[in-house]
Formats: sequence, structure tokens, C-alpha cells
Amino acid sequence: MRTVRTVGELRAALDPDRRAGLTIGLVPTMGALHEGHLALIGRAREQCDRVVVSLFVNPAQFDERSDLERYPRQEERDAHLAAGAGVDVLFAPSVEEVYPPGFATAVQVFGVSEQMEGVARGAEHFRGVTTIVTKLLCMAMPDIAYFGQKDAQQVVVVRRLVEDLNLPVRIEVVATVREPDGLALSSRNALLDPGGRARALALPAALSAAGERAAAGERSTAALLTAAREAMGPFRVEPEYLALVEPDTLQPLDTLTGEALMMVAAQIGDIRLIDNALLGPANSTGQPPTTAGSPSPAAILRSPSPANHHRLASRDPLDEQRSRGRPAEREAITCRG
Ligand code: AMP
Repeated sequence: MRTVRTVGELRAALDPDRRAGLTIGLVPTMGALHEGHLALIGRAREQCDRVVVSLFVNPAQFDERSDLERYPRQEERDAHLAAGAGVDVLFAPSVEEVYPPGFATAVQVFGVSEQMEGVARGAEHFRGVTTIVTKLLCMAMPDIAYFGQKDAQQVVVVRRLVEDLNLPVRIEVVATVREPDGLALSSRNALLDPGGRARALALPAALSAAGERAAAGERSTAALLTAAREAMGPFRVEPEYLALVEPDTLQPLDTLTGEALMMVAAQIGDIRLIDNALLGPANSTGQPPTTAGSPSPAAILRSPSPANHHRLASRDPLDEQRSRGRPAEREAITCRG
């Protein structure tokens, strides 16, 4: 694996491969790699000849200075993990390389960026995301770029961006990877103290409760949101927002008639976490809720497969990778039944 720090080096590393007709996959990250990132890299490894991972804590998308300052930075460890996962090129630019003096451009997606995270974090958050994603796509010119369903609104915003600007890239979305107890992996989890880690389970509990009610036939959004909110009570966590929205447009839904995304954000002490799950009406497949078939989102959130349990039980993916001694392979726990 080569580590490059400038756009010139990145292009020089990739141009011969592109000319040779090889497929290039890009996995944009802010580092502090965990199994969620490795799932994206694993998918890219399966689908592409060359895999590029970008490692850049993008100041433009942080609405809170303290969040930016304490965001975990561990490049050496990330480089070990990326190399072990079969990454070809690690692109780790400086802030000055990405935003040189005189930088004066922003890319903004309207509409789908303006609710939930767009309200909670302000317009500058998604403007920062869409600007950096556009820049990374122009720098690496990948055939496929990989994003996690964990950041569901980001996926919708990026899809809109790519479509509206006719960017020649395919967007691949990888299911959320979770801890055995259901907590979605996030670089910010490392900042939780033990009490906060326990309270963070309020988020998957909310999604599970709504998923169970949906699987039992409940279609009223109000009832599903109430079930989700009540499930957070025992953890003494109030949601910052809790919403049931249409998955492609993010428009709020009154009733569950087709697939819907339940989105939740909450502040655990001074750490902010987000999560989401796809819910579907119990009989959307024409089957009664109790008929055996795909497990409900709630069941999936609750009970990861033994294989995943084993993989995710180790908290440090670097240890795991060392003991396996081969590129990481993993099955994400999907919220889609
Ligand atoms: P970040 O480094 O947090 O910006 O995340 C980089 C990419 O990894 C984004 O596309 C995220 O959605 C994705 N990602 C983060 N956490 C997870 C997870 N638990 N499961 C799947 N993808 C994830």
C-alpha cells in the first residue's frame, strides 16, 4: 500500500491504472477506522481492481469546534488496518492541500440536506460534506465510491449531488455494521465513557422497538415514534430528533405503507450519535407478520449472526486483522429484513 499526501501524487498513482482500464474504488473516511469502514473497503476490494481510501478529518463539515478538536486521529493505526484490508493507495492529505489559501468554492445540495442533520448541525455541515465529496471524486476520479448506510441522510444527499452534477461515478451503499449489542459502530463511540456507552444503546433500542411494532402490524407513524421514544426512556436519553421518512426523498411519512427509514439522533453526554433502520409494513410482502421469512429489523438489530458476533466482539479491528493474517472479510448486519 502506498500512502500519498498530494493530489499530484494521487493522480500519478492512479493514472496508469485508469489508462489500463482497471476499475478504481474510493472509500472516503475521516479515519479512526473500525469494522464499519472495513466493510466498505471489503466491498470495494470485491468490486474493484484498485482501492483508494481517503483519510481526511474535514474541518468544513464540523459545526462544533470541540467536536473537530477531539475527533480521534490515529493515522499509523489506520494505515496498518488499511494495508491489512488490501487497500492499494491511502490518500492522507493535509488541510492546506485540500483547502489551499484562496479556496473560495462550496457545493451545496438543497432539499434533502435541509432536515434532520441539516437542522441539527446547520447548513454548513452538509455543505462541508458535499464540497469535500465533490473534491475527492475529482481528485481520485473513481468508478465507484462507497458510503455507509449508517449515515443515511448523507447517502441521500450524495446520490442527489452525483445525479445533479452528472458526476461519472457509481455510488455503492454498505449496510450498517453494529456491535454485538446493536450499537452502530462509529469513530465517536471511542469517546464514550462506560456510562455513556451503556446509555448509547438507547438508539438501537428505539429502532428495535419501532421495528417490532411495525412487524406486528402497526402503521401509524405517531405510534411507531412513541414506541421508539418510550424505549429510550430507561436509558435516560431524549432523542434530538426521531423521524420516519421516505428513504429516497426523506419526506416525513404519516403512515407506514412501504419501506421507510426511521432516523434517530441523540446527545449522550457531550457525544452526539446518529442511527437509522429501514422499516417495512408487516404485510408489505403479502405475508402475515408471524410467517417465517426475513427477520424483522428489530430481530436483526438485536441478534447479530454468530459469525458477526465473533468478529465484532473484538473491540480492536487491528488485533483481529493481525490474528487473521489476511485481508478483512466481513458480513455487515443489515437493517433490511
Ligand atoms: P466517517 O469516517 O465517519 O466519515 O465514515 C466514513 C464512511 O464509513 C461513511 O460513508 C460512513 O457512513 C461509513 N460508516 C461509518 N460507520 C459505519 C458503520 N457502522 N457501518 C457501515 N458504514 C459506516
